[in-house]
Amino acid sequence: MHPHSPPRDTTDVLVVGGGIIGLVTAWRAAQRGLSTAVVDPEPGGGAAQVAAGMLAAVTELHYGEETLLGLNLASARRYPEFAAELAEASGRDLGYRACGTLAVALDSDDRAHLRELHALQERSGLTSEWLSGRECRRLEPMLAPGVRGGLRVDGDHQVDPRRLAAALLVACERAGVIFHRGWAERLSVAADRATGVVLADGTALAAGQTVLAGGSLSGRLAGVPEGVLPSVRPVKGQVLRLAVPQRYAPFLSRTVRAVVRGSSVYLVPRENGELVVGATTEELGWDTTVTAGGVYELLRDAHELVPGITELPLTETRAGLRPGSPDNAPLLGPSALPGLQLATGHYRNGVLLTPATGDVMAHALTTGELPDEARGFTPLRFADASPTQRFMEQPA
Ligand SMILES: Cc1cc2nc3c(=O)[nH]c(=O)nc-3n(C[C@H](O)[C@H](O)[C@H](O)COP(=O)(O)OP(=O)(O)OC[C@H]3O[C@@H](n4cnc5c(N)ncnc54)[C@H](O)[C@@H]3O)c2cc1C
Repeated sequence: MHPHSPPRDTTDVLVVGGGIIGLVTAWRAAQRGLSTAVVDPEPGGGAAQVAAGMLAAVTELHYGEETLLGLNLASARRYPEFAAELAEASGRDLGYRACGTLAVALDSDDRAHLRELHALQERSGLTSEWLSGRECRRLEPMLAPGVRGGLRVDGDHQVDPRRLAAALLVACERAGVIFHRGWAERLSVAADRATGVVLADGTALAAGQTVLAGGSLSGRLAGVPEGVLPSVRPVKGQVLRLAVPQRYAPFLSRTVRAVVRGSSVYLVPRENGELVVGATTEELGWDTTVTAGGVYELLRDAHELVPGITELPLTETRAGLRPGSPDNAPLLGPSALPGLQLATGHYRNGVLLTPATGDVMAHALTTGELPDEARGFTPLRFADASPTQRFMEQPA
Protein backbone atom coordinates (compact mmCIF):
# COMPACT_ATOMS: atom_id res chain seq x y z
CA MET A 1 0.00 0.00 0.00
CA HIS A 2 1.18 3.53 -0.69
CA PRO A 3 2.23 5.10 2.65
CA HIS A 4 -0.06 8.14 2.19
CA SER A 5 -3.20 6.37 0.96
CA PRO A 6 -5.70 5.77 3.78
CA PRO A 7 -6.30 2.07 4.57
CA ARG A 8 -9.60 0.75 3.32
CA ASP A 9 -11.22 -0.72 6.39
CA THR A 10 -13.83 -2.92 4.71
CA THR A 11 -12.83 -5.78 2.44
CA ASP A 12 -14.34 -9.00 1.12
CA VAL A 13 -11.68 -11.01 2.95
CA LEU A 14 -9.63 -10.19 6.04
CA VAL A 15 -6.84 -12.62 6.88
CA VAL A 16 -5.57 -12.64 10.46
CA GLY A 17 -1.95 -13.77 10.28
CA GLY A 18 0.61 -13.15 7.54
CA GLY A 19 2.68 -16.33 7.80
CA ILE A 20 2.98 -18.41 4.62
CA ILE A 21 -0.52 -19.85 5.11
CA GLY A 22 -2.21 -16.46 5.57
CA LEU A 23 -0.22 -14.97 2.70
CA VAL A 24 -0.99 -17.75 0.21
CA THR A 25 -4.66 -17.48 1.17
CA ALA A 26 -4.61 -13.71 0.63
CA TRP A 27 -2.73 -13.99 -2.68
CA ARG A 28 -5.12 -16.57 -4.11
CA ALA A 29 -8.19 -14.67 -2.84
CA ALA A 30 -6.96 -11.44 -4.46
CA GLN A 31 -6.30 -13.30 -7.71
CA ARG A 32 -9.95 -14.38 -7.67
CA GLY A 33 -11.02 -10.74 -7.58
CA LEU A 34 -11.85 -10.53 -3.85
CA SER A 35 -10.71 -7.36 -2.09
CA THR A 36 -8.33 -8.70 0.56
CA ALA A 37 -6.45 -7.45 3.60
CA VAL A 38 -3.94 -9.10 5.95
CA VAL A 39 -3.42 -8.19 9.62
CA ASP A 40 -0.01 -9.01 11.10
CA PRO A 41 2.59 -6.88 12.89
CA GLU A 42 5.30 -8.66 10.90
CA PRO A 43 3.91 -10.28 7.74
CA GLY A 44 6.26 -12.81 6.14
CA GLY A 45 7.64 -13.82 9.56
CA GLY A 46 6.40 -16.78 11.60
CA ALA A 47 7.50 -20.40 11.51
CA ALA A 48 8.74 -20.15 7.91
CA GLN A 49 11.73 -18.17 9.21
CA VAL A 50 12.84 -21.32 11.04
CA ALA A 51 11.47 -24.21 8.95
CA ALA A 52 13.72 -26.49 6.93
CA GLY A 53 11.44 -26.53 3.90
CA MET A 54 11.37 -30.24 3.24
CA LEU A 55 8.55 -31.19 0.88
CA ALA A 56 8.40 -34.60 2.44
CA ALA A 57 5.05 -36.19 1.62
CA VAL A 58 6.61 -39.67 1.50
CA THR A 59 9.34 -39.60 4.18
CA GLU A 60 7.05 -37.80 6.67
CA LEU A 61 4.35 -40.48 6.34
CA HIS A 62 3.14 -41.63 9.78
CA TYR A 63 0.67 -44.33 10.80
CA GLY A 64 -2.87 -43.00 11.02
CA GLU A 65 -2.20 -40.01 8.76
CA GLU A 66 -3.42 -41.51 5.48
CA THR A 67 -6.02 -38.76 4.91
CA LEU A 68 -3.32 -36.15 5.29
CA LEU A 69 -1.13 -38.10 2.87
CA GLY A 70 -3.59 -37.43 0.02
CA LEU A 71 -3.42 -33.64 0.50
CA ASN A 72 0.35 -33.73 1.06
CA LEU A 73 0.86 -35.60 -2.22
CA ALA A 74 -1.51 -33.29 -4.09
CA SER A 75 0.43 -30.27 -2.79
CA ALA A 76 3.80 -31.85 -3.63
CA ARG A 77 2.61 -32.47 -7.20
CA ARG A 78 1.59 -28.81 -7.54
CA TYR A 79 4.90 -27.43 -6.28
CA PRO A 80 6.84 -27.06 -9.56
CA GLU A 81 4.00 -25.10 -11.21
CA PHE A 82 3.27 -23.14 -8.01
CA ALA A 83 6.93 -22.18 -7.59
CA ALA A 84 7.16 -21.05 -11.22
CA GLU A 85 3.93 -19.01 -10.98
CA LEU A 86 4.96 -17.37 -7.70
CA ALA A 87 8.47 -16.62 -8.98
CA GLU A 88 6.91 -14.96 -12.01
CA ALA A 89 4.38 -12.99 -9.94
CA SER A 90 6.98 -11.78 -7.41
CA GLY A 91 10.17 -11.60 -9.46
CA ARG A 92 11.81 -13.69 -6.66
CA ASP A 93 13.37 -17.11 -6.75
CA LEU A 94 12.02 -19.56 -4.14
CA GLY A 95 14.98 -21.91 -3.94
CA TYR A 96 12.76 -24.83 -5.04
CA ARG A 97 15.05 -27.79 -5.56
CA ALA A 98 13.98 -31.20 -6.93
CA CYS A 99 16.80 -32.97 -5.13
CA GLY A 100 15.14 -36.04 -3.56
CA THR A 101 15.69 -37.46 -0.08
CA LEU A 102 17.63 -40.32 1.46
CA ALA A 103 16.37 -41.67 4.81
CA VAL A 104 19.03 -43.85 6.44
CA ALA A 105 19.40 -46.20 9.42
CA LEU A 106 22.38 -46.22 11.77
CA ASP A 107 21.64 -49.34 13.83
CA SER A 108 19.41 -52.39 13.73
CA ASP A 109 16.54 -50.66 15.59
CA ASP A 110 16.57 -47.74 13.12
CA ARG A 111 16.78 -50.24 10.29
CA ALA A 112 13.69 -52.12 11.53
CA HIS A 113 11.84 -48.80 11.89
CA LEU A 114 12.79 -47.79 8.35
CA ARG A 115 11.76 -51.19 6.98
CA GLU A 116 8.32 -50.65 8.56
CA LEU A 117 8.10 -47.20 7.00
CA HIS A 118 9.04 -48.70 3.64
CA ALA A 119 6.26 -51.32 3.98
CA LEU A 120 3.75 -48.58 4.89
CA GLN A 121 4.87 -46.52 1.89
CA GLU A 122 4.46 -49.52 -0.42
CA ARG A 123 0.99 -50.28 0.97
CA SER A 124 0.11 -46.62 0.33
CA GLY A 125 1.25 -46.89 -3.29
CA LEU A 126 4.27 -44.60 -2.83
CA THR A 127 7.58 -44.86 -4.62
CA SER A 128 10.69 -45.49 -2.54
CA GLU A 129 13.64 -47.81 -3.00
CA TRP A 130 15.49 -49.81 -0.31
CA LEU A 131 19.29 -49.43 -0.52
CA SER A 132 22.16 -51.18 1.29
CA GLY A 133 24.56 -49.11 3.42
CA ARG A 134 27.12 -49.24 0.64
CA GLU A 135 24.60 -48.03 -1.94
CA CYS A 136 23.64 -45.15 0.38
CA ARG A 137 27.29 -44.09 0.69
CA ARG A 138 27.76 -44.32 -3.04
CA LEU A 139 24.97 -41.74 -3.41
CA GLU A 140 26.20 -39.58 -0.51
CA PRO A 141 29.90 -40.16 0.22
CA MET A 142 29.84 -37.94 3.37
CA LEU A 143 27.60 -40.44 5.19
CA ALA A 144 29.06 -42.29 8.18
CA PRO A 145 30.61 -45.68 7.38
CA GLY A 146 28.22 -47.29 9.90
CA VAL A 147 25.06 -46.55 7.87
CA ARG A 148 23.13 -49.84 7.72
CA GLY A 149 20.75 -49.15 4.86
CA GLY A 150 18.30 -46.56 3.67
CA LEU A 151 15.32 -45.51 1.63
CA ARG A 152 15.81 -43.50 -1.51
CA VAL A 153 12.81 -41.24 -2.14
CA ASP A 154 13.29 -39.32 -5.36
CA GLY A 155 9.98 -37.44 -5.04
CA ASP A 156 10.61 -35.61 -1.71
CA HIS A 157 12.13 -32.23 -2.56
CA GLN A 158 12.76 -28.89 -0.82
CA VAL A 159 12.09 -25.16 -1.01
CA ASP A 160 13.62 -22.29 0.97
CA PRO A 161 10.79 -21.19 3.32
CA ARG A 162 12.30 -17.72 3.92
CA ARG A 163 12.33 -17.07 0.19
CA LEU A 164 8.85 -18.54 -0.12
CA ALA A 165 7.56 -16.09 2.52
CA ALA A 166 9.35 -13.13 0.90
CA ALA A 167 7.96 -14.03 -2.53
CA LEU A 168 4.41 -14.42 -1.19
CA LEU A 169 4.65 -11.00 0.44
CA VAL A 170 5.63 -9.31 -2.84
CA ALA A 171 3.02 -11.29 -4.82
CA CYS A 172 0.33 -10.17 -2.36
CA GLU A 173 1.40 -6.54 -2.60
CA ARG A 174 1.40 -6.72 -6.41
CA ALA A 175 -2.06 -8.34 -6.37
CA GLY A 176 -3.41 -5.40 -4.35
CA VAL A 177 -3.62 -7.02 -0.91
CA ILE A 178 -3.76 -4.38 1.86
CA PHE A 179 -1.47 -4.88 4.87
CA HIS A 180 -2.40 -3.71 8.37
CA ARG A 181 0.83 -3.99 10.35
CA GLY A 182 -0.73 -4.53 13.75
CA TRP A 183 -2.13 -7.09 16.13
CA ALA A 184 -5.73 -8.33 15.86
CA GLU A 185 -6.97 -8.15 19.41
CA ARG A 186 -10.53 -9.43 19.03
CA LEU A 187 -12.90 -10.95 16.51
CA SER A 188 -16.02 -8.83 15.98
CA VAL A 189 -19.28 -10.78 16.00
CA ALA A 190 -22.69 -9.32 15.22
CA ALA A 191 -25.95 -11.26 14.91
CA ASP A 192 -24.09 -14.59 15.21
CA ARG A 193 -21.75 -13.75 12.37
CA ALA A 194 -18.06 -12.78 12.28
CA THR A 195 -17.77 -9.28 10.86
CA GLY A 196 -14.04 -8.50 11.12
CA VAL A 197 -11.55 -7.71 13.86
CA VAL A 198 -10.53 -4.93 16.21
CA LEU A 199 -6.81 -4.14 16.26
CA ALA A 200 -4.73 -3.53 19.38
CA ASP A 201 -4.85 0.25 18.69
CA GLY A 202 -8.66 0.17 18.59
CA THR A 203 -9.04 0.32 14.78
CA ALA A 204 -12.04 -1.71 13.62
CA LEU A 205 -11.67 -3.60 10.34
CA ALA A 206 -14.77 -5.01 8.69
CA ALA A 207 -14.91 -7.90 6.24
CA GLY A 208 -17.40 -10.17 4.53
CA GLN A 209 -15.26 -13.12 5.57
CA THR A 210 -12.52 -13.30 8.17
CA VAL A 211 -9.86 -15.99 7.88
CA LEU A 212 -8.03 -17.02 11.02
CA ALA A 213 -4.49 -18.02 9.94
CA GLY A 214 -2.58 -17.20 13.11
CA GLY A 215 -0.38 -20.30 13.21
CA SER A 216 0.28 -21.54 16.74
CA LEU A 217 -1.52 -18.44 18.10
CA SER A 218 -4.77 -19.22 16.26
CA GLY A 219 -6.53 -20.45 19.39
CA ARG A 220 -5.86 -17.20 21.26
CA LEU A 221 -7.87 -14.62 19.32
CA ALA A 222 -10.38 -13.09 21.75
CA GLY A 223 -14.03 -13.00 20.80
CA VAL A 224 -14.12 -16.36 18.99
CA PRO A 225 -16.92 -18.42 20.59
CA GLU A 226 -15.70 -21.37 22.69
CA GLY A 227 -16.84 -24.23 20.43
CA VAL A 228 -15.42 -22.45 17.36
CA LEU A 229 -11.97 -21.70 18.78
CA PRO A 230 -9.46 -23.89 16.91
CA SER A 231 -7.64 -26.47 19.01
CA VAL A 232 -4.15 -25.53 17.84
CA ARG A 233 -1.09 -25.65 20.06
CA PRO A 234 2.58 -24.62 19.65
CA VAL A 235 5.14 -27.40 19.11
CA LYS A 236 8.65 -26.02 19.45
CA GLY A 237 11.40 -26.95 17.01
CA GLN A 238 15.06 -25.92 17.25
CA VAL A 239 17.06 -25.72 14.03
CA LEU A 240 20.71 -25.04 13.18
CA ARG A 241 22.15 -23.48 10.05
CA LEU A 242 25.67 -24.27 8.87
CA ALA A 243 27.58 -23.02 5.84
CA VAL A 244 29.29 -25.33 3.36
CA PRO A 245 32.47 -23.64 2.10
CA GLN A 246 32.99 -23.91 -1.66
CA ARG A 247 35.91 -26.32 -1.22
CA TYR A 248 33.58 -28.93 0.36
CA ALA A 249 30.80 -28.61 -2.23
CA PRO A 250 28.74 -30.60 -2.93
CA PHE A 251 28.76 -31.69 0.70
CA LEU A 252 25.41 -33.45 0.31
CA SER A 253 23.44 -33.59 -2.92
CA ARG A 254 20.02 -34.34 -1.42
CA THR A 255 18.19 -34.16 1.91
CA VAL A 256 19.53 -36.80 4.30
CA ARG A 257 17.53 -37.85 7.33
CA ALA A 258 17.41 -40.51 10.02
CA VAL A 259 15.79 -41.45 13.29
CA VAL A 260 18.64 -41.58 15.83
CA ARG A 261 17.74 -43.06 19.25
CA GLY A 262 14.11 -42.27 18.62
CA SER A 263 14.53 -38.64 17.52
CA SER A 264 14.32 -37.45 13.99
CA VAL A 265 17.26 -35.53 12.51
CA TYR A 266 17.62 -34.16 9.01
CA LEU A 267 20.18 -32.26 6.94
CA VAL A 268 18.81 -30.14 4.11
CA PRO A 269 21.46 -28.79 1.68
CA ARG A 270 20.51 -25.59 -0.15
CA GLU A 271 21.94 -24.61 -3.49
CA ASN A 272 23.44 -21.44 -1.93
CA GLY A 273 25.67 -23.50 0.39
CA GLU A 274 23.44 -23.33 3.48
CA LEU A 275 22.96 -26.61 5.34
CA VAL A 276 19.90 -26.74 7.61
CA VAL A 277 20.01 -29.23 10.48
CA GLY A 278 16.76 -29.91 12.36
CA ALA A 279 14.75 -30.32 14.39
CA THR A 280 13.74 -30.90 17.98
CA THR A 281 10.08 -31.55 18.85
CA GLU A 282 9.16 -30.02 22.22
CA GLU A 283 5.82 -29.32 23.91
CA LEU A 284 6.77 -26.23 25.94
CA GLY A 285 4.06 -23.71 25.15
CA TRP A 286 5.17 -20.53 23.38
CA ASP A 287 8.79 -20.77 24.54
CA THR A 288 11.29 -20.17 21.70
CA THR A 289 14.55 -20.30 23.68
CA VAL A 290 17.44 -21.99 21.91
CA THR A 291 18.90 -24.37 24.50
CA ALA A 292 22.34 -25.92 24.88
CA GLY A 293 20.62 -29.31 25.15
CA GLY A 294 18.70 -28.83 21.90
CA VAL A 295 21.79 -27.72 19.97
CA TYR A 296 23.84 -30.54 21.52
CA GLU A 297 21.33 -33.23 20.56
CA LEU A 298 21.00 -31.99 16.99
CA LEU A 299 24.78 -31.78 16.50
CA ARG A 300 25.34 -35.16 18.18
CA ASP A 301 22.76 -36.92 15.99
CA ALA A 302 23.77 -35.10 12.80
CA HIS A 303 27.42 -35.90 13.51
CA GLU A 304 26.63 -39.61 13.82
CA LEU A 305 25.00 -39.42 10.42
CA VAL A 306 27.52 -37.18 8.64
CA PRO A 307 30.73 -36.90 10.72
CA GLY A 308 32.18 -34.15 8.48
CA ILE A 309 29.68 -31.54 9.70
CA THR A 310 31.97 -30.66 12.62
CA GLU A 311 34.25 -28.92 10.07
CA LEU A 312 31.51 -26.52 8.95
CA PRO A 313 30.90 -23.01 10.34
CA LEU A 314 27.77 -22.85 12.53
CA THR A 315 25.99 -19.70 11.33
CA GLU A 316 22.63 -19.67 13.11
CA THR A 317 20.60 -21.33 15.85
CA ARG A 318 16.88 -20.64 16.09
CA ALA A 319 13.65 -22.04 17.47
CA GLY A 320 10.15 -21.79 15.98
CA LEU A 321 6.64 -23.00 16.71
CA ARG A 322 4.74 -25.49 14.58
CA PRO A 323 0.97 -25.03 14.74
CA GLY A 324 -0.07 -28.52 15.93
CA SER A 325 -3.65 -29.81 15.75
CA PRO A 326 -5.09 -32.85 17.58
CA ASP A 327 -4.75 -35.10 14.48
CA ASN A 328 -1.68 -33.34 12.99
CA ALA A 329 -3.74 -32.25 9.98
CA PRO A 330 -4.77 -28.69 9.06
CA LEU A 331 -8.12 -27.04 9.76
CA LEU A 332 -9.36 -25.52 6.51
CA GLY A 333 -12.45 -23.62 5.42
CA PRO A 334 -15.73 -22.57 7.04
CA SER A 335 -16.02 -22.80 10.83
CA ALA A 336 -19.21 -23.21 12.84
CA LEU A 337 -19.46 -19.38 12.99
CA PRO A 338 -20.74 -17.87 9.72
CA GLY A 339 -18.24 -15.39 8.27
CA LEU A 340 -15.25 -17.06 9.95
CA GLN A 341 -12.99 -19.47 8.03
CA LEU A 342 -9.88 -21.19 9.32
CA ALA A 343 -6.52 -21.89 7.68
CA THR A 344 -4.37 -23.23 10.48
CA GLY A 345 -2.97 -26.33 12.21
CA HIS A 346 -0.50 -27.24 9.45
CA TYR A 347 1.95 -28.58 12.05
CA ARG A 348 5.12 -29.97 10.41
CA ASN A 349 3.83 -29.75 6.80
CA GLY A 350 2.91 -26.10 6.38
CA VAL A 351 5.56 -25.40 3.75
CA LEU A 352 4.62 -28.50 1.79
CA LEU A 353 0.91 -27.66 2.07
CA THR A 354 1.21 -24.02 0.97
CA PRO A 355 0.14 -24.57 -2.69
CA ALA A 356 -2.81 -26.84 -1.79
CA THR A 357 -3.93 -24.52 1.02
CA GLY A 358 -4.00 -21.53 -1.32
CA ASP A 359 -6.22 -23.38 -3.80
CA VAL A 360 -8.48 -24.88 -1.12
CA MET A 361 -9.00 -21.53 0.62
CA ALA A 362 -9.64 -19.67 -2.65
CA HIS A 363 -12.33 -22.23 -3.44
CA ALA A 364 -13.81 -22.00 0.07
CA LEU A 365 -13.84 -18.20 0.04
CA THR A 366 -15.50 -17.96 -3.37
CA THR A 367 -18.03 -20.81 -3.00
CA GLY A 368 -18.50 -21.15 0.76
CA GLU A 369 -17.60 -24.84 0.52
CA LEU A 370 -14.51 -27.01 0.66
CA PRO A 371 -13.39 -28.73 -2.55
CA ASP A 372 -13.60 -32.55 -2.47
CA GLU A 373 -9.86 -32.99 -1.81
CA ALA A 374 -10.15 -31.01 1.43
CA ARG A 375 -13.44 -32.23 2.92
CA GLY A 376 -11.57 -34.27 5.54
CA PHE A 377 -9.93 -31.10 6.88
CA THR A 378 -13.05 -29.18 7.87
CA PRO A 379 -12.68 -27.52 11.30
CA LEU A 380 -16.11 -28.99 12.09
CA ARG A 381 -14.47 -32.41 12.67
CA PHE A 382 -13.55 -31.19 16.17
CA ALA A 383 -16.84 -29.42 16.80
CA ASP A 384 -18.26 -32.13 19.11
CA ALA A 385 -15.19 -32.51 21.29
CA SER A 386 -15.22 -30.62 24.58
CA PRO A 387 -12.05 -28.63 25.39
CA THR A 388 -11.05 -31.42 27.83
CA GLN A 389 -11.54 -34.17 25.27
CA ARG A 390 -9.60 -32.19 22.70
CA PHE A 391 -6.75 -31.78 25.15
CA MET A 392 -6.65 -35.52 25.84
CA GLU A 393 -6.51 -36.33 22.13
CA GLN A 394 -3.31 -34.37 21.66
CA PRO A 395 -0.35 -36.64 20.96
CA ALA A 396 2.50 -36.61 23.47
C1 LIG B 1 11.52 -26.19 13.33
C2 LIG B 1 10.48 -26.26 12.25
C3 LIG B 1 10.76 -26.99 11.11
C4 LIG B 1 9.78 -27.11 10.12
N1 LIG B 1 10.09 -27.79 8.98
C5 LIG B 1 9.16 -27.91 8.00
C6 LIG B 1 9.46 -28.61 6.81
O1 LIG B 1 10.58 -29.08 6.62
N2 LIG B 1 8.48 -28.73 5.88
C7 LIG B 1 7.23 -28.22 6.05
O2 LIG B 1 6.37 -28.39 5.18
N3 LIG B 1 6.92 -27.52 7.17
C8 LIG B 1 7.84 -27.36 8.14
N4 LIG B 1 7.54 -26.68 9.29
C9 LIG B 1 6.16 -26.23 9.51
C10 LIG B 1 5.84 -24.90 8.86
O3 LIG B 1 6.89 -23.99 9.08
C11 LIG B 1 4.54 -24.38 9.48
O4 LIG B 1 3.52 -25.36 9.39
C12 LIG B 1 4.06 -23.12 8.73
O5 LIG B 1 5.12 -22.19 8.60
C13 LIG B 1 2.90 -22.50 9.48
O6 LIG B 1 2.57 -21.32 8.84
P1 LIG B 1 1.36 -20.41 9.34
O7 LIG B 1 1.28 -19.27 8.42
O8 LIG B 1 0.16 -21.26 9.56
O9 LIG B 1 1.77 -19.97 10.82
P2 LIG B 1 2.94 -19.00 11.32
O10 LIG B 1 4.14 -19.13 10.52
O11 LIG B 1 3.03 -19.23 12.79
O12 LIG B 1 2.36 -17.54 11.06
C14 LIG B 1 1.31 -17.04 11.79
C15 LIG B 1 1.33 -15.53 11.70
O13 LIG B 1 0.15 -15.03 12.30
C16 LIG B 1 0.46 -13.89 13.03
N5 LIG B 1 -0.60 -13.74 14.04
C17 LIG B 1 -1.04 -14.66 14.93
N6 LIG B 1 -2.04 -14.17 15.66
C18 LIG B 1 -2.25 -12.90 15.21
C19 LIG B 1 -3.12 -11.86 15.59
N7 LIG B 1 -4.03 -12.03 16.57
N8 LIG B 1 -3.04 -10.68 14.93
C20 LIG B 1 -2.14 -10.50 13.94
N9 LIG B 1 -1.28 -11.44 13.54
C21 LIG B 1 -1.33 -12.63 14.17
C22 LIG B 1 1.84 -14.11 13.59
O14 LIG B 1 2.48 -12.87 13.83
C23 LIG B 1 2.51 -14.89 12.44
O15 LIG B 1 3.20 -14.03 11.56
C24 LIG B 1 8.52 -26.49 10.27
C25 LIG B 1 8.27 -25.72 11.41
C26 LIG B 1 9.25 -25.59 12.38
C27 LIG B 1 8.98 -24.72 13.58
